[in-house]
Amino acid sequence: MTDTQLKLYNSLTRQIEPFEPVHPGIPGVPGKEPEARVYTCGPTVYNYQHIGNMRAYVFADTLGRTLSWKGYKLTHVINITDVGHLTSDADEGEDKMEKMAARESKSAWDIAAFYAADFEKDLARLNVRETAHPRATEYVDAMIEWGKQIAPEHCYELDSGLYFDTSTVADYGKLARAVTEDGEGRIDTVDGKRHAADFAIWRKTPSGETRQMEWDSPWGKGAPGWHLECSVMGEKLLGFPFDIHTGGIDHREIHHPNEIAQNQAFCGSDASGARIWMHNNFLVERSGKMSKSSGEFLRLQLLIDKGYHPLAYRMMCLQAHYRSELEFSWEGLTAALTRLKRMVMATAPLSELASQGVAASTDPQMASLLERFAEAMSDDLNTPVALTVLDEVLALKKVGAGEKLAAVAGLDAVFGLDLLTLSRTDLRIRPKDATITEAEIEDALARRKAARAEKDFATSDALRDELAAKGVEVMDGDPLEWDWKL
Ligand code: AMP
Ligand code: ZN
Repeated sequence: MTDTQLKLYNSLTRQIEPFEPVHPGIPGVPGKEPEARVYTCGPTVYNYQHIGNMRAYVFADTLGRTLSWKGYKLTHVINITDVGHLTSDADEGEDKMEKMAARESKSAWDIAAFYAADFEKDLARLNVRETAHPRATEYVDAMIEWGKQIAPEHCYELDSGLYFDTSTVADYGKLARAVTEDGEGRIDTVDGKRHAADFAIWRKTPSGETRQMEWDSPWGKGAPGWHLECSVMGEKLLGFPFDIHTGGIDHREIHHPNEIAQNQAFCGSDASGARIWMHNNFLVERSGKMSKSSGEFLRLQLLIDKGYHPLAYRMMCLQAHYRSELEFSWEGLTAALTRLKRMVMATAPLSELASQGVAASTDPQMASLLERFAEAMSDDLNTPVALTVLDEVLALKKVGAGEKLAAVAGLDAVFGLDLLTLSRTDLRIRPKDATITEAEIEDALARRKAARAEKDFATSDALRDELAAKGVEVMDGDPLEWDWKL
């Protein structure tokens, strides 16, 4: 018997658990579908996102797609932190947004709007489905109300702001499994804090200073602490408890334990706000190009400039399990692009064959492959195994085109690789520094073909060399019929 009940790894229990929805609805009754509600911590938009950040959203989107495929009505929120939090997670350092605003001679509001738009563009390029993208600045009033509610029992005021006393909730740090005694665990140097792990709910603007982004509050003019926004937006948009909260693995240590502490304070119980907390592991790059301060930092646009289709990066992410570290390399990305090309080329003829009504036949293997796919995805989103099943589906020989196309469409709804719509032309992205156009390449290749037909190999070779000098590799006999690449 195959097991296709959805199971997910919960960072809270450090165990794989069956997914039981908070709102089970009435299965089979239209309008009463079981629901899944997911909150994903989004970016702080003071700079471009690097591709490591984008791994977090490819993961969250794959989770969302899997829930939809399982029949859940999905509500997914990815928030946008458009108010600067500090350069350190521990309430120290400069305000990231205002620092960038000063560097780029723009207002903090313009910086946030610019990088939020760039982030949304990258989400679309990676085929991350539409979700709600609430802005933190739209929820400041709600954050102040939350603060007022939890302050009497859980917070204390210092000159620098309102702080959450982490000793007032049960099991603080259970998610991180951190040591929380003073002096151990996290080091933090804000004067007057009762415990090292205490964190700001509200950061007061220092007297004599003005910030571009500041609001009035019962604790003085200032800005909310970073952790507060996710608690508030999660509660307002999804209701407590909701099903799943996601983020990168770094959030398991500080940001999410702090969110949980706030949620416990707000609910007046040990409830964590979300039932399941899931974390993607990091994309790593050894030479430091992922750092936003490095010159050529690895963002999606750089990959595109070098001639990689963005979905090759999505493929690269899917080829690793989300809980494994993934090492970035250009060779790895090239291999992912080749695999994507192979899948696109294998899918391309199917629609035409299907529309020609080529006699449908069934391959007994199809059913067992689809079952293996379901088993892999249900097993904590095992995308690397599920992708090998897709390879096998595409390679089936006896199955009718229509049936194969339907199967590929079903699987790709979960992968989000656009296999049915991408074409060879789409995948051939022109590198930014290319000096030759597609039309010129096609023209030279047509002349070369003609020369070869007349056995004029001297001309044919000369054309090939001419193209090579412009960075075009002619690929005679390429099994993918790619013909050329830049
Ligand atoms: P930030 O804007 O720093 O809060 O990051 C946005 C999201 O990206 C968070 O969920 C982080 O945990 C995640 N993240 C940051 N760096 C990486 C990385 N190298 N690989 C995967 N996820 C990352
Ligand atoms: Zn968050």
